[in-house]
Amino acid sequence: MNVPESAATSAGFSQQTPVAQPAGAAARASAAEQASTAARNRAAELRRLLHRAAHAYYVLDAPVMEDAVYDRLYRELLELESAHPELLSPDSPSQRVGGSPAAGFSSVRHRIGLLSLDNAFSEAELEAWYGRLLKVLDRAPAPELALPGLAAVALPMVCELKIDGNALALSYEQGVLVRAATRGDGEQGEEITANVRTIASVPLRLNLSDPPAWLEVRGEALIPDRTFAAINADRQARGEALFANPRNACAGTLRQLDPRVVAARRLDFFAYTLHLPQEWEASDGDPSAPSSQWQCLQWLAAVGFRVNPNASLCPDLAAVETFFQDWQERRLGLDYATDGVVVKLNDLRLQADAGFTQKAPRWAIALKYAAEEAPSRLLRLVMQVGRTGVVTPVAEFEPVPLAGTTVSRATLHNADRLAELDLHSGDTIVVRKAGEIIPEVVRVLTELRPATAERLQLPSSCPECDSALVREEGEAATRCVNSSCPAILRGSLRHWVSKGALDVDGLGSKLIELLVDQGLVRRIPDLYRLDGALLASLDRLGERSATNLIAALLGSRSQPWHRQLYGLGIHHVGEVSAKALAKAFPSASQLASAATKAPEQITAIHGIGAEIAQSLQQWFSTTANQELLSELHQLGFALASEPLDPAAASEPVADHLAGQTFVLTGTLPSLSRSQAQALIEAAGGKVSGSVSKKTSYVVAGEEAGSKLSKAESLGVAVLDEAGLRQLLAAD
Ligand code: NAD
Repeated sequence: MNVPESAATSAGFSQQTPVAQPAGAAARASAAEQASTAARNRAAELRRLLHRAAHAYYVLDAPVMEDAVYDRLYRELLELESAHPELLSPDSPSQRVGGSPAAGFSSVRHRIGLLSLDNAFSEAELEAWYGRLLKVLDRAPAPELALPGLAAVALPMVCELKIDGNALALSYEQGVLVRAATRGDGEQGEEITANVRTIASVPLRLNLSDPPAWLEVRGEALIPDRTFAAINADRQARGEALFANPRNACAGTLRQLDPRVVAARRLDFFAYTLHLPQEWEASDGDPSAPSSQWQCLQWLAAVGFRVNPNASLCPDLAAVETFFQDWQERRLGLDYATDGVVVKLNDLRLQADAGFTQKAPRWAIALKYAAEEAPSRLLRLVMQVGRTGVVTPVAEFEPVPLAGTTVSRATLHNADRLAELDLHSGDTIVVRKAGEIIPEVVRVLTELRPATAERLQLPSSCPECDSALVREEGEAATRCVNSSCPAILRGSLRHWVSKGALDVDGLGSKLIELLVDQGLVRRIPDLYRLDGALLASLDRLGERSATNLIAALLGSRSQPWHRQLYGLGIHHVGEVSAKALAKAFPSASQLASAATKAPEQITAIHGIGAEIAQSLQQWFSTTANQELLSELHQLGFALASEPLDPAAASEPVADHLAGQTFVLTGTLPSLSRSQAQALIEAAGGKVSGSVSKKTSYVVAGEEAGSKLSKAESLGVAVLDEAGLRQLLAAD
């Protein structure tokens, strides 16, 4: 459902409670205190929630929220902690990597810590990371590269797909796999050697003639999508809980106590990191110790590992961005999940110079794909009253980037959905927008609900006209049934002039609102009685736009019958059914008679069902609608496939040009031919195609042709557009 901005009316559910402002320094101190209390509370709530989520994700393999939602909340916590350093605590999720090792396996201490990766969610964040890296490495941009900034210094980087699996650390002694461990909390992981031995792409012995006493390889274990589907189908058949995604299925599998189950699930492994003892030197025939990440990948492949083939050595940041964009689509064709691209500084010595933060290497960043889900904070709930009187609750929230656009509004459809969500003021909500799909509120993170939050529901009276709202039994919609409700009128006018209906240019939502507010338009026919001078005096319109609008309105009378029918906005009659109905019943009177007396003739039309027939029956039996049709007819609408008979069709709105014949030639500065013709006819004049002695005026624009010379030779008066407008206005 579209949520036009102007149609929404605040139902007063603003979350912001006005705060009384005392004066002076005391006031500032108290405001600062309030802000820091709010920040402290929010940080505490976020930490609680993130801890719970991380435990569910890392330890139980059963996430309680979407990754993108976790990422945004995590980011919010980082921002709070950086703005209020006093809130930082050692147990904050921002200070930890992963989750604690699960019980059931012996835990092992990693020889070298397995850290996390910092995230970038946009190219701007990627560039900021790169700028920081250059600074750490003390690489000022060369003078000739000083513009457009630091990012102009090119350091080669390796781009690898960020596989959404589980990191493993594999220890080899004398070239033989002796230990495999999960990442755990980065310092200690679970020892799962027996399980990892079942993964075919993990070599049990390395292809090296003279291996070092010890080396460690890291990489990602994963479950291909196809295998994931089969595992879940099997679990469903057994009545077991399903895995949320392949990553959790993989983590759950790696923690199986029975290696035969692991073997049956056919895990895969891509290696990407190598730790070799510094003193190791390759003997003849063995690949020499790498000095770059790119060489590492080749080294790993040479000694027997599966290395993801989709990596690329990028000479600069622009190439990284191209790689990222390229894989945005291509990744969907892979048989395993990826959630971004890992960008790593290629030179291992520079990596060592850049070093680590507490949680992640400075020389690498995970550039993540646009999320389709994210949390946001509800700002207010507004009630939108549509042209059929249906009241739709619409959530307005803090803008969030989602699937490539920024969203800040989402419809909640109806009272049932609102109740199901159990929405409260100030709630943190999860919003989803997949591809082109309209954003929706998926759920509420109740853990982050402010203590003073109030439950939100549909009001009992219309926010526009205050009449009682009605909800029929069995209907999901709540409606305002006051036919003179200004919101309903605005909606029906908007629909009448919309593209698929009468397609009137120059009559947008704002102007409609103005016309309705000022009482100038109370029903559709009023549009056709608008006075040009009055229109021109309105705030938003000049004389020229007013004239053009009147011309467009008058011109709209010759739109085909099916568009007029659609424009009436009869419930359930969309563009397609209006076409089918108009074809079967070439006039409003024929349709009305079938609708009220022989509904079977209506349902006999292909694609038209009882619902539409019933709605037509109701519409045509309503006196106000019958009056509307006859008024439109008087105003010059054929309401039929055949145009109105010429006498009626040209029935003018005014008659001061009656008896006068005009010929139009050339291009007028602002009026189109048809607009000029409509204006002349509306004033009672006639427009003819050829000039004769009887022609009253030739209206000539630029590049006027032979008609102008003929007029001059016959002594017929020639007008320009301004002259025509004067004549039209001389009522
Ligand atoms: P991360 O998953 O964002 O990045 C680090 C990991 O990337 C590494 O440990 C490794 O496993 C993986 N990786 C994949 N391909 C790689 C490659 N080519 N090179 C290097 N590493 C590669 O960070 P994290 O610390 O493991 O976890 C944080 C992420 O986990 C969050 O961003 C979030 O999306 C998710 N998470 C979700 C929840 C939840 O409730 N849904 C909870 C906690 C964490």
